Amino acid sequence: MSDKIFQGKTALVTGASRGIGKACALLLAQSGADVAVNYRQSESAAAETVAEIQALGVKSVSIQADVSSPEGAGDLVQSTVEQLGPVDLLVNNAGIFDRISHEETDWAQWRQTMASNLDSAFLVTWGVKESMIQREYGRIVNISSIAGIRPRPMSIAYAASKAGMIGFARSLAQALAPHNIRVNTVAPGLIATDILDGVAQQDLQDLIDATPIPRIGKAEEIAELVLFLLSDRSSFMTGQTLVASGGRVTLP
Ligand code: NAP
Repeated sequence: MSDKIFQGKTALVTGASRGIGKACALLLAQSGADVAVNYRQSESAAAETVAEIQALGVKSVSIQADVSSPEGAGDLVQSTVEQLGPVDLLVNNAGIFDRISHEETDWAQWRQTMASNLDSAFLVTWGVKESMIQREYGRIVNISSIAGIRPRPMSIAYAASKAGMIGFARSLAQALAPHNIRVNTVAPGLIATDILDGVAQQDLQDLIDATPIPRIGKAEEIAELVLFLLSDRSSFMTGQTLVASGGRVTLP
């Protein structure tokens, strides 16, 4: 099989300026896809990602859009279609994370987390799904977290949003399967990206010590799973969640 398995396909990765989204965007480009790189505020990082992708010989554009709002998500899909064509491969990756107590968790933080992590996946998916149905082809991967599977008393809204993503993908997968659209989820554990900046060093070490493979994962290790779920190598999988956490999700 050619390693350019996505040649001629258009991919949209939300939150692709940095971290896991960037790793997914680069791997998709290496596999031949044209890639829309969405970001919210990191303009120069997004431009850098696009330059790295273009150097691989495929088309890429950066698109500023806040996917937590219907307007932002709508603009993102429209701009992607105008510049690269209809979306074949969607990675709902954009997300925010807070490590705060229940006392600090209020309605505003809850709403912001839900909008950024869960509403965004709904809004962007709804923006692309009609076209996928018409073209009888679509592959969608949502980036959840092991926080959506295990209790996270210091990240209540985050954990709820990530559990929601798993339920969303599972039900949507059944609804869209007749149209040759597959929807799956990746649930990472600790991955070395900027999102961990707010986590204290000792807390990070405690998490590493509780992990059977005792280290922090790499964004590229998550991108490999995303690529697998987008590709025909997973052709009999839909509505599933792949966990990549060094084994930590199996522990209390
Ligand atoms: P990151 O390095 O902080 O990157 C987050 C990305 O999301 C950035 O590109 C950011 O854009 C974008 N973004 C955030 N809110 C957005 C919005 N409303 N609209 C558009 N873009 C938005 O984080 P990461 O670790 O790569 O996280 C990616 C995903 O993996 C998240 O959903 C996260 O919950 C999940 N995850 C991460 C870990 C981990 O340990 N790293 C573990 C489990 C799950 P800007 O650059 O413009 O701000």
